[in-house]
Amino acid sequence: MRKKHLIAAVTAITVLLSGLWQLSKMRDFQLVGNLVARVACSDKVVALTFDDGPTREYTDTVLTTLAKHAVKATFFVTGSEVEKNPAEASRIASAGHELGNHSYSHARMVFKLPATVKDEIEKTDAAIRNAGYSGQIHFRPPYGKKLLILPWYLQKAGKTTIMWDIEPETFAETAVSAEAISDHIMQQVRPGSIILLHVMYASREESRKSLELVIHRLKKEGFAFKTVSELIKHAEAQN
Ligand SMILES: [Zn+2]
Repeated sequence: MRKKHLIAAVTAITVLLSGLWQLSKMRDFQLVGNLVARVACSDKVVALTFDDGPTREYTDTVLTTLAKHAVKATFFVTGSEVEKNPAEASRIASAGHELGNHSYSHARMVFKLPATVKDEIEKTDAAIRNAGYSGQIHFRPPYGKKLLILPWYLQKAGKTTIMWDIEPETFAETAVSAEAISDHIMQQVRPGSIILLHVMYASREESRKSLELVIHRLKKEGFAFKTVSELIKHAEAQN
């Protein structure tokens, strides 16, 4: 009998924990506060978003591609990397792109203490401001994970959590080639989509290569590129 109870208890805890784990990374759900994974609108507008960095190696390559096509994008940067590479962060800002907060240390923001959460976000905001960026600073959680303290903190701080509805690199068979990445995006894209790409590390050569292709194909389909803040404003004006 006792053994049975133990098994039942262990099962219940396992189910609860795996439920919380799933909940913590849901793309379009957060316990409290404002979350955007895509905006509702009928116009062909999209936002390109890049996570991590800025890095010394790849920031300029990405900025050059965007400038060549007159596309504005949103860079979710970590505070520690902005402090390490302030000139790169400044160049992103002065080129007119949006900078977002992707935490300071890129730790999973699950079961963190309030002081840690506050520190991770405030230090990163400060680094972004030091780089000369003056626009709104939204937040994107590392690994998309946001549980318990984080959402409450963000709500109190008046920050919106920005997720995404298109993530080509999540699928191994897609991430391996620039063509497959761009095919995936073209199949999934809808008006108001938020596209997530990683372009700041050596391992993401195919993602960087896909940029050119993705911009070209989306423009050909009639899509206009907005920063995340512009995309949100665009949808608000329409609804
Ligand atoms: Zn990240």
